[in-house]
Amino acid sequence: MEKWERILQTQMSSNPPRLSVDEAIIIYDEADINDLMDTALFRRRKQVPGNKITYLVDRNINYTNICTINCQFCSFYRPPGHSETYTQTFDQISARISELENIGGSRILMQGGVNPDLDLEWYLNLIKSIRAKHPSIDLDCFSPIEIEGIADVCGLDSLQVLEEMKNVGLHGLPGGGAEMLVDDVRLDISPKKGGSENWLRIMEEAQSLGLVTSATNVIGFGENNTHRVLHMDKIRKSQDKAIKNGYNGFTSFISWPVQLENNVFGKRNKGKNKVQLEVKPQEYLRHVAVSRLFFDNIDHIQASWPTMGLGIAQMAFFAGADDAGSTMMEENVVSASGTDKTNANEIELQRIISRAGFIPQKRNSEYVSLSTEIYSDDNISALIPIQN
Ligand code: SF4
Repeated sequence: MEKWERILQTQMSSNPPRLSVDEAIIIYDEADINDLMDTALFRRRKQVPGNKITYLVDRNINYTNICTINCQFCSFYRPPGHSETYTQTFDQISARISELENIGGSRILMQGGVNPDLDLEWYLNLIKSIRAKHPSIDLDCFSPIEIEGIADVCGLDSLQVLEEMKNVGLHGLPGGGAEMLVDDVRLDISPKKGGSENWLRIMEEAQSLGLVTSATNVIGFGENNTHRVLHMDKIRKSQDKAIKNGYNGFTSFISWPVQLENNVFGKRNKGKNKVQLEVKPQEYLRHVAVSRLFFDNIDHIQASWPTMGLGIAQMAFFAGADDAGSTMMEENVVSASGTDKTNANEIELQRIISRAGFIPQKRNSEYVSLSTEIYSDDNISALIPIQN
């Protein structure tokens, strides 16, 4: 029996030991894809019992594209002074949230660049104005690098910034900007973003305040499977610490391949080496399956339809994912890099879930189930068309 077979067999036992980093690398590198996915699906059914796949009705809002960090893979940002920069007004942001309310959404995920012209007061006023006009919408906003940027502008530390934001109504911090928490990769692709400890520290600070957080992972920068597992290991250790301290920790782990097709502004790839850097569907499914088996302390593993397409997201349910992500309504960061599909309505997510043999379940950003109207072709018109 091969080593990978023994590892998967052990993971199929009734009380399997925690998968080690070395074991995770072996199954990532060597396991038969069908056996790996079967084991991950088995684990999913133990960790998240039942046959439901959840999804969130939300909207992404990218409030500014001005950024000084210049990540090499990023096609979304524009440096200060560039002719294509924008910052949305509070009214423009509010109008977008009203559209989300019209389709029964429950949260906004708002992220932008590190904009040196926006101080803490601007952010606090924004949160307050949204809270006043849209009290039922959860605000999961600003990735760790944005929090660091705001702290720099206002001369506070990041924990103080988070406290002030929480006091006026911030609900959570999205996991954006983790990319690859292995510094020889991270400092190569985003030298100005700082080491992995920055992202982890700000997430841990957010968790200590009771903010809702998720963990992310972008793959395909030319790193190897060992780097990918080491990234997962940093998240798993951070989650152990959160649980030990009595915090909720990360709700979920979400991974996707970097999109470089239109990387005309970013300096990574520029169309060269595309074959080498491209993450193929089978590799993505391996990644999802290994993450399901690795994270014995994070329940929810998300499939990424915006980068992989709805069909591969559907396959990811058989690799251990228990969540189809969210409707997004609009997306400007990944889409700036060339992906074709950047919004899905509720019926599309329900369709891929039910056609794969699972039951669709609407949720909020804390993975609490919400009342779910199951749409059929008869009541599809009940869904208000998405307007970007
Ligand atoms: S990925 Fe984020 S931090 Fe990096 S350049 Fe783009 S907007 Fe800025």
